Amino acid sequence: MSSNKHKVTLFWFRRDLRLFDNVGLYHALKNHENVLPLFIFDTSILEKLEDKNDARVTFIHDTLIQLKEQLEKVGSTLLIKTGKPVEVYAELLKEYTIEAVYANHDYEVYAQKRDKEIQELLAHEGVHFHTFKDQVIFETNEVVKADGLPYTIFTPFSKKWKERLKDVDYQSYETVKYFSRLKKQLPAKEITLGDIGFKRSPITVPLPEVNEQLIKEYTSKRDIPSYPGTSRLSVHLRFGTVSIRALVKMALQTSETWLNELIWREFYQMILWHFPETDKAFKAKYDRIEWRIDEEQFQAWCDGRTGYPIVDAGMRELNETGFMHNRVRMIVASFLTKHLLIDWRWGEAYFAEKLLDFDVASNNGGWQWAAGTGCDAAPYFRIFNPYTQTKKFDPELKYIKKWVPEYSDPFKYPEPIVDHAFARERCLRVYKEGLN
Ligand code: FAD
Repeated sequence: MSSNKHKVTLFWFRRDLRLFDNVGLYHALKNHENVLPLFIFDTSILEKLEDKNDARVTFIHDTLIQLKEQLEKVGSTLLIKTGKPVEVYAELLKEYTIEAVYANHDYEVYAQKRDKEIQELLAHEGVHFHTFKDQVIFETNEVVKADGLPYTIFTPFSKKWKERLKDVDYQSYETVKYFSRLKKQLPAKEITLGDIGFKRSPITVPLPEVNEQLIKEYTSKRDIPSYPGTSRLSVHLRFGTVSIRALVKMALQTSETWLNELIWREFYQMILWHFPETDKAFKAKYDRIEWRIDEEQFQAWCDGRTGYPIVDAGMRELNETGFMHNRVRMIVASFLTKHLLIDWRWGEAYFAEKLLDFDVASNNGGWQWAAGTGCDAAPYFRIFNPYTQTKKFDPELKYIKKWVPEYSDPFKYPEPIVDHAFARERCLRVYKEGLN
């Protein structure tokens, strides 16, 4: 009996929302005719987002609309589905004769479980699920120590990473030359944010523009939060709207310091893959520290009302824009865990809710670094002094006055919620007691 179902090969977009230099898409097009690109709004993720104005959902939605338009210009379209991926695939298997499914690797724990489930479902129907490395230069155990064990310290990891880079071929994946292999299809139905139960966020995301001059000055300017001295590409790296291969190529020609930051990202991705239990302290004994349960002080930290201007400025930047400068992320994380002695997991969860660039690997890595519990962390007795940090990195108070305008009038600005010298002593004592 012949089937009148359309024969397609699916390319499934996830953290790789671009048509150019996309490894999985390239291989799908190279090996198959009638490639139909697909995106699934995963309801098991959407349901967990309490804020229905979530800026990341708006960003994904707008990016998909652009991808759809680009695909429609070349006679194809983007199929956008909503649901639990395994249920969506069960439906797609009824609707199409699927030759194969292509995607790029995703290293998060949930994603790996999801992909295993999809792979099993497809295998049951005799359909191959092909996945590729795309979002990093080196993945999983491609950069390990001589004995095969993972690195847990950044510097030797980065050295080996750079050595291995010499063997990497920097061709970019020229998808455009195969666009004729995309499935010819009438435009698919437009999907709105309302269709998936969300509203438009007022927060906008900067364009994925790489400013070479900025990268050249990166070493001297990257620590000044009032100055636009960092790339602001983290959200684009998170969702794959830029290609890591293109960025590394540029970094090699412009700034080793900036290249190192891209390698930190890969370091934390590698750590997550080898040590997926992110709810535990990387160094187990740090889970013995007695964190304080203080909802009121935690809320003051979230709202930017601690009475420490640099901390308050950072939290307000985060709440208003979904971004916070890296130097200030380190200061606010140190303040929460060391001055307030509140569990790093509380701060990590708040960042996860608010950061546009939220990424399990880098966020967990950053928090455990600041709390001193992580793999290559700052030693616990190094406690950032918010006043000294301000003098060094915001001496003219430009950043502080931008986000905390009332700071100019001392009567309008609250007293610190905890005294610095007292907090420092308490932190040293409680950490020491926990670690003994
Ligand atoms: P640039 O300075 O231009 O750096 C270029 C890229 O390198 C970044 O876009 C990012 O992908 C990567 N990068 C830079 N610094 C780091 C770093 N320390 N660790 C890992 N990757 C880095 N980064 C995230 O992408 N997602 C997070 O959820 C996240 N949470 C953090 C939490 C804490 C407590 C701390 C201290 C840091 C966190 N970071 C996180 C790392 C860093 O703050 C951001 O990547 C950076 O501020 C993004 O700005 P940018 O794009 O202008 O970076």
